[in-house]
Amino acid sequence: MRPAYASLDAAALRHNLAEARALTGARIMAIVKANGYGHGLVWVAKTLAEADAFGVASLEEGLELRAAGIRQEICLLEGFFDAAEMPVILRERLTPVVHDHYQVEVLKGMRGEQRCDVWIKVDTGMHRLGFEPAEVPAVVADLAALPCIARLGLLSHLACAEEADTTPSRHQIERFAKLAFPGLRRSLANSAGIMRWPATHADWVRPGLMLYGASPLAPDTSMPTRLKPVMTLRSRLISVRHRREGDAIGYGGVYRCPRDMPVGVVGVGYGDGYPREFRTAVSVLVRGQRAPVIGRVSMDMLTVDLRAVAEARVGDEVILWGQGLPVEEVAHAAGTIPYTLLCGLTQRLPRREC
Ligand code: PLP
Repeated sequence: MRPAYASLDAAALRHNLAEARALTGARIMAIVKANGYGHGLVWVAKTLAEADAFGVASLEEGLELRAAGIRQEICLLEGFFDAAEMPVILRERLTPVVHDHYQVEVLKGMRGEQRCDVWIKVDTGMHRLGFEPAEVPAVVADLAALPCIARLGLLSHLACAEEADTTPSRHQIERFAKLAFPGLRRSLANSAGIMRWPATHADWVRPGLMLYGASPLAPDTSMPTRLKPVMTLRSRLISVRHRREGDAIGYGGVYRCPRDMPVGVVGVGYGDGYPREFRTAVSVLVRGQRAPVIGRVSMDMLTVDLRAVAEARVGDEVILWGQGLPVEEVAHAAGTIPYTLLCGLTQRLPRREC
């Protein structure tokens, strides 16, 4: 067996959910789309038995959760595309987000023998999906009158909650607050809203990234949470060789050894989802010590400078992110965000609860 795998810490996942709850006191729609941010859709949902609802992107993801026996509310964050999906949505008790007029028309065509909950999506400033605030009263009135609708809610999404400029978020919060409809549940906060914007908490929150123990905020030591990483990407040293000064390492020979030095080969590569490009230096952990990645990352392996880990041996465990090495740090070095690293892990990489 290849030594690369992602170990998953169920206790950490539950801890992070409890953190979101403690920070907000709100009901939690745990966002598990994109295969549970790479952790495994069904594993995440089953582990988060305390979540009040789950948020997925597609009908397929919602059906996978129902087939796995998940009973909580499941929200389809992109809603539905045509009337053909509605019988399945109703039968499986899924909760679509309605963000456009064509969806209202589909719902008007339903006979109403079965009912579903609906979240109405409001565009308070993201300018992606959702009704303009001025359109919302009419949409609420239309949907409230339909026999196929059970509960209605208002939902909006923050575009800039993690950014230094606070103006866009303040505007979104104000626009959302003006839309007051008695009896409708409300949801605005994602992870950054939960962690940084108490005014967004409302009665439902929708944490994604923070559940997985990573922060969407720029490295910020004043962060009021104690999140625990759920995933640790692990592999092993599959070779340790002493290279000579001037030796070129790997594809393109882009790294030349500045002196005689031990170089380790780690059994993981971009074929597993580890980034190939880095803007700044990045390290892995070998025996708890940092070993810089050198040379180009290959599909199945990468090379590390072992000068700081003199006792390193073939078979030693290597941590690429997770415990002791935040995924945020690796993402930053790669010029990306932790979301893409977690979601980008490929299928061949086993996920194992440990
Ligand atoms: N709500 C919606 C509608 C989303 O699309 C997402 C993720 O993209 C989230 C909540 C969760 O966001 P985050 O992972 O930043 O908490």
